[in-house]
Amino acid sequence: MTKSNVSRTSRAKVGGKATLEPCACCGIAPDPRGRPLSITFEQPDVIDQIHPALLDTWGGDPFLAIKGVGFFIRVILPIKLSDGFAIDFGTWLEVYNEDFRQLWQTWNFPEYKDFELEGYIGNAIAPFDEFPHVLVKATVRDPEQVPYVTSSDNEVFTKLLSDTWPHAMVLSPYADLLKSDPPFEG
Ligand SMILES: [Zn+2]
Repeated sequence: MTKSNVSRTSRAKVGGKATLEPCACCGIAPDPRGRPLSITFEQPDVIDQIHPALLDTWGGDPFLAIKGVGFFIRVILPIKLSDGFAIDFGTWLEVYNEDFRQLWQTWNFPEYKDFELEGYIGNAIAPFDEFPHVLVKATVRDPEQVPYVTSSDNEVFTKLLSDTWPHAMVLSPYADLLKSDPPFEG
């Protein structure tokens, strides 16, 4: 059930070393291949509000059902940033159980690429204000990737998806994650 863009270990370097210098203002280097940076939220925020003894889940990533709460699909929220940066937030969409079921059935089939679903973003994502509880639409950009949040009738989300945001402001909550390298390669 894996789609390639849910990985957050894809820190490939061209020729064995980073080809782009870290930004002078924030110390974060753009991806050498020009791909968006990636931050992944492991689970919907609602899980933190449920007592572990009462938490009853089915599935995992990218399909997660929480008994008594709802149905969640892994999606990407793409944000355009200044100075050649971009970031893909791996987040969750709370969807209707019928869409959950249909997506589960089409996931590995050609029909997946035409799939559209609506739902509610399942994470608070800093530095943005808490998102309004409104429907957003997710569509498939690439059959090998999880769906992308692509539009909403809500003006907050329309602005989030269409504007180019100051990169240092958006990346600062994640600076440690984005700058940290493991002590040893491999
Ligand atoms: Zn910077």
